[in-house]
Amino acid sequence: MAAPQTRVRTRLRKNDLVVVVSGKDAGKQGKVLKVIPEKNRVIVQGVGFIRRHTRPNPQRNIKGGIAEREAPIHASNVMIVCGECGKRTRIGAKLLADGKKARICRHCEGVLDK
Ligand SMILES: [Zn+2]
Repeated sequence: MAAPQTRVRTRLRKNDLVVVVSGKDAGKQGKVLKVIPEKNRVIVQGVGFIRRHTRPNPQRNIKGGIAEREAPIHASNVMIVCGECGKRTRIGAKLLADGKKARICRHCEGVLDK
């Protein structure tokens, strides 16, 4: 039996601007289209394309060829880009005056949640 997976929650959210920091797409920026917390993965617009070679299957109305779409990449391979200072940053947390928690930039302490 597999060991229980430690739940490492990504702090990324949909519509965050992120930059890829490792892998073949390193340096690319894109918006987070989807977060998959249970796998700790994110789908980033324009990043991590996979090519699926599909065979034609007339019964299921599938055309053959190569389909490209974004594949989920691991959340540890991307970093959020701060809207305030423009740097890639780790995400900190801060309690706001109104009692809400906000994610902040570790460089400039700018609030990342709009
Ligand atoms: Zn910043």
